[in-house]
Amino acid sequence: MPSLLDLHAVDKRFGDKLVLNAVDLSVPRNACVCVLGPSGSGKTTLLRVIAGFEQPDGGHLVLDGRRIDDVPAYRRNIGFVFQNFALFPHLSVEDNVGFGLEHRAATPMPAAERRDRVRAMIELVGLSGLERRDIAQISGGQRQRVALARTLVTEPSLVLLDEPLGALDANLRTRMRDELRLIRERLGVTFLHVTGSEAEALAMGDTVVVLDAGTIAQVGDADAVYNRPCSPAVARFLNCYN
Ligand code: ADP
Repeated sequence: MPSLLDLHAVDKRFGDKLVLNAVDLSVPRNACVCVLGPSGSGKTTLLRVIAGFEQPDGGHLVLDGRRIDDVPAYRRNIGFVFQNFALFPHLSVEDNVGFGLEHRAATPMPAAERRDRVRAMIELVGLSGLERRDIAQISGGQRQRVALARTLVTEPSLVLLDEPLGALDANLRTRMRDELRLIRERLGVTFLHVTGSEAEALAMGDTVVVLDAGTIAQVGDADAVYNRPCSPAVARFLNCYN
């Protein structure tokens, strides 16, 4: 089956620094691909290029069989879950989740349909009963769920997650890993998840991609990456977390 997303030799520079260096990446449909790399290796930049927030300096991107290099971010049908959640603190859970639907570029959805979809998504992420709460009144884990629901409710073909569990404490992080997997499987969506945590990448990724200074150092399943690192650099990075 063809991939949902393919990157071909994508470069990105900031000034004279090459932050992404000829990156080739395939994301299969309905998979969870985890990009693992140390801080500064280019993970966030990679997601921002895919989302269309940054223009690549070389190479090209194909989503669902179509070149998207010239497609603006808001028309790519790609969802983004930010590390700090980027919620609106003065709006309720329900209004945060509904925001994307209300402001999407296509024809507006009737209010009743919008409300039903928002409520169904809130239920799916386990927040029923908290619809009218303000963001300031809910916990970090609940905010994470709101951020996820706000992205998923727009039915993106691909969801980019930038260190989505980084702001949570260790117990919650482990629980949310499982929940993210269940939600993904239930909705049949595709995740590209970046993290600096080896444990998270190995637990969640159907495929793990190791990024080192803007270059893909290894691609494989968790077992291959963990047990058979393909270079001293990958082995050193994995050992940092053992
Ligand atoms: P990671 O997410 O792996 O920590 P980033 O993609 O955030 O890495 O950053 C990779 C490199 O690119 C870092 O050296 C960072 O300082 C640099 N960088 C990121 N964004 C910008 C920007 N807008 N302008 C200049 N340099 C940037």
